[in-house]
Amino acid sequence: MFRPYRRASQFAVFLLMFGIPLLNLWEIYAITGTFYAINIGGLGIADPSAILQSMFAAGQFAPPILFSVFFPVLFAFLFGRVWCGWMCPYHVISDGVAWARGKVRGMIGGSSEPETWVFLDPFKANVTRYSFLLLGTAAAGIMGIPVLNYVNAPGILSAEAMILVRNLTISIEMGFIAIVLLVELLFLPRFWCRLFCPTGAVVSLFRAPFTLRVVSASNKPGSPCCKEEQCSAACPMGLAPYREGGNLLCTNCARCIDACRGEKGAGLLGFRGFQD
Ligand code: SF4
Ligand code: SF4
Repeated sequence: MFRPYRRASQFAVFLLMFGIPLLNLWEIYAITGTFYAINIGGLGIADPSAILQSMFAAGQFAPPILFSVFFPVLFAFLFGRVWCGWMCPYHVISDGVAWARGKVRGMIGGSSEPETWVFLDPFKANVTRYSFLLLGTAAAGIMGIPVLNYVNAPGILSAEAMILVRNLTISIEMGFIAIVLLVELLFLPRFWCRLFCPTGAVVSLFRAPFTLRVVSASNKPGSPCCKEEQCSAACPMGLAPYREGGNLLCTNCARCIDACRGEKGAGLLGFRGFQD
């Protein structure tokens, strides 16, 4: 149900990465910048994790710069980590890598079904990514260099798209993306978004009781709604969606809702307030 809309959103944002520099080449500047920081008709919108890094590296907390994160923060408060599940260009490539991994496993005799395998349970995964964020932010403050911006996957990808469109080349930073994707393909599927990405970690922090989240209409709260647990098998973040829709790892991607058969074929998972 949600899949075609999610794919349309992901590909639209992916194309936007190339569309912005193309428009600028044609001297149309209504929209400029990359996914580190973008300017739409004079309105600056920045990745909160990139701003956090820049401020710690510069040792200055400038209110005008903070305004650039107002809309991303508001968006996160309302819709959760939807940037990750529905828009991030890295995530759509990671989806492709997970699909390719499934095909390769199928060809060498394993199952090509979605993997339930995850590295570290959700609690340890969150501890890992927030430890990484804290260490990186401390390093930025000590060294005066926004170190985590050098591993900001959506920012790197959109900067590389700009370099490609303008100069028909890519930079050394693309090597980082290639290595991460190779590790996901061969060893640790989805490890970057689950365990390290600073953008996803910062966006996850803006939560409130009213934030959009997945809930189960089952009369067995905390237990699987059905025996098969198709939702858990579909979740790329390694969550049990019937009880962990509110986990900081959840990207509101809605894969679990699409996969849910519930009891007697009636889906029980849905976004809170939008259930049947
Ligand atoms: S965790 Fe990072 S790389 Fe993954 S989808 Fe979110 S922003 Fe993109
Ligand atoms: S719990 Fe559902 S919405 Fe959240 S990440 Fe997992 S599959 Fe996506």
